Amino acid sequence: MANDVLKTVIIGSGPAGYTAAIYAARAGLMPELYTGAEPGGQLMITTDVENYPGFPDGVMGPDMMELFRKQAERFGTKIHYELITKVDFTGPVHKIYTEEGREIQSHTVIISTGASAKWLGLESEKKLTNKGVSACAVCDGFFFRGQEVAVVGAGDTAAEEASYLAKLCPKVHLLVRRDEMRASKIMQERVLNTPNIIIHWNTETEEILGGDAVEGVRVVNNRTGKKEVIPVQGFFVAIGHKPNTEMFRPWLEMDETGYLVPVAGTSRTRIPGVFVSGDAQDKVYRQAVTAAGTGCMAALDAERYLVAQGIA
Ligand code: NDP
Repeated sequence: MANDVLKTVIIGSGPAGYTAAIYAARAGLMPELYTGAEPGGQLMITTDVENYPGFPDGVMGPDMMELFRKQAERFGTKIHYELITKVDFTGPVHKIYTEEGREIQSHTVIISTGASAKWLGLESEKKLTNKGVSACAVCDGFFFRGQEVAVVGAGDTAAEEASYLAKLCPKVHLLVRRDEMRASKIMQERVLNTPNIIIHWNTETEEILGGDAVEGVRVVNNRTGKKEVIPVQGFFVAIGHKPNTEMFRPWLEMDETGYLVPVAGTSRTRIPGVFVSGDAQDKVYRQAVTAAGTGCMAALDAERYLVAQGIA
């Protein structure tokens, strides 16, 4: 039935998705937003956000996302706590499918599916996930209070995770595969000036040890070949992210690492009525504020498209 076709569906509930929802709702598009498996997105596993304008004293990531959600709902966004696993952009009406197979039809779709943490890919990592292996210090650090832990990675995420854990744990081993860190200067300085963060340079993880719980990590120095077992009870992986874009592969242009590629300077894709925003299309800036900005762009582009089609 024609009146079953929505004007705008938004996939994803990070800053991009909720900002798109706020703009789309205020434009009268009656958007419906599907949160995905992690409502609120990556900011739900962040502590202090100190760089989002308008919060001079900082704000906790989950608190900020709660505010985003409330603002989107205030203007009439309908929020579904469901995961979208398939899309059909044959058009002109687009179809998206929930995990349970429910079909939703919409004239426009705004993709804000974000990015997720990357893993090392070791068997032992898989086996010990949630048994001491984690990709989120803020979520799981509490369980390792008073214990020794390791963090692998050398970017801002690793620096942030190590600094966070250093407040809970007597020793944090930071495993850096090169002889320098990629993290911003200020974050590096924070790490270097924290006495209980021990940096292991040129160090790669060979194996995470333990049966039902993490007992240690076997590392190798890639310069000397020397192996060592570091006894830790927690192992935190902080080596970057990959975009959540796999279901769009048959339909949309993406780069070699899976990031969606919009028409330059817009949120449009090569499929009319499909728009992209947030980290799913941004491997450069990846900030809450830039994600929010592109969410706004996507809603405005969707509205213009609907007006041009005589639908809005
Ligand atoms: P990055 O891609 O910036 O860094 C990933 C790090 O993991 C690199 O240092 C990389 O090493 C290392 N790495 C990758 N694969 C492996 C592996 N198999 N074994 C060991 N190490 C590995 O990701 P981040 O998540 O740190 O940051 C992503 C973006 O988010 C950045 O733009 C960052 O600035 C931003 N960010 C900002 C924060 C803030 O401002 N508060 C907090 C967190 C992130 P190598 O350097 O050798 O390639």
